[in-house]
Amino acid sequence: MMALRITDLCKSFDGQTVLNNVALELPKGKLLAILGPSGCGKTTLLRSIAGFEMPSTGTIEIAGVSVFSDKKQLPAEKRRVGYVPQEGALFPHLTVAQNIAFGLSRQTRNQRVKEMLALVGMEGFEKRMPHELSGGQQQRIALARALAPHPELILLDEPFSALDTGLRAQLREDIKYALEQAGATAIMVTHDQEEAFSMADRIAIMRDGKLVQTADPDAVYTTPSDVHVATFVGDAVILKGQVNGNLVECPLGSLCYQGSSHSREAVTVMIRPEQVTIGSAQSGVIAKVTKTIYFGHDSLIHLELEHSEQHCTPAIRVLGKPPVKKGDLVGLQVNGDVVIYG
Ligand code: ATP
Repeated sequence: MMALRITDLCKSFDGQTVLNNVALELPKGKLLAILGPSGCGKTTLLRSIAGFEMPSTGTIEIAGVSVFSDKKQLPAEKRRVGYVPQEGALFPHLTVAQNIAFGLSRQTRNQRVKEMLALVGMEGFEKRMPHELSGGQQQRIALARALAPHPELILLDEPFSALDTGLRAQLREDIKYALEQAGATAIMVTHDQEEAFSMADRIAIMRDGKLVQTADPDAVYTTPSDVHVATFVGDAVILKGQVNGNLVECPLGSLCYQGSSHSREAVTVMIRPEQVTIGSAQSGVIAKVTKTIYFGHDSLIHLELEHSEQHCTPAIRVLGKPPVKKGDLVGLQVNGDVVIYG
């Protein structure tokens, strides 16, 4: 059974379309990340699922129960959804234990509070007040509170955005672990690509109110649905090319491409920078190094192709120190299949 099924969901604010025919299915027990730039409609989608926002048309089913359609609008408190906002989810005047116990039946309360504190690694914090917790601890308790009443779906709206980088990495792992242990189905909204890729089973890319691609993280990275997705989820070398049978001709050579063969036509070619290796200028496509930037763990090598009609300035990442310097001539080789768009 699907934990969530959305069809044709639309929503406008003052004539501006914010959700544009959104369709989504999420199997039970999976974590989906909705990844998109600021203002694309991520929060509006999450709030519509939770019941805090009223869409104009479409349907939403949670665990087989219709919660929104033209005939039915179930109020938020009846949707069996746990919502964790960016920050400030906890009642400031209640202790940690009282926050988690809020809304639980008297019989199960104490036992469930214990279980939830263990799940998020915060045993012993029962009597603390929210202001006595760090930002990361507050988010753990917010998740514990959301999970406590056994919801069908957990919604996390940029849950780490208020935290500093070091804490975020640890909390990501802990929250993923807690969700998995609880067998929860969850949707997390983020504009942080690393967060989406490191945590999610599936990623939905959102742009201008639409879900433009929903797939496994690997499929989103290796076969993005269009050039915008390709450049949004990582670095990409984008070139014009010409299909010739099973190969595509472009300034970086005659390359194999993914998918079925196209008839001879002009296409856009997408190459991930890690597919490109830099060698000596004796072989490969000749390029000049225009700049190198050393980051410690890796370096960025900016290049300009020497004998190309198309202006082509790829930037390639290599591990460790730059193996070349500004002004050097090098040979570029592309490994693996490239992606083409008609
Ligand atoms: P961010 O990553 O910045 O939080 P988002 O992708 O979550 O952005 P939303 O918060 O869903 O985007 O907003 C989408 C669009 O809808 C924005 O243009 C926003 O200004 C508009 N919007 C959101 N809520 C309202 C509202 N209550 N009234 C009018 N416009 C709104």
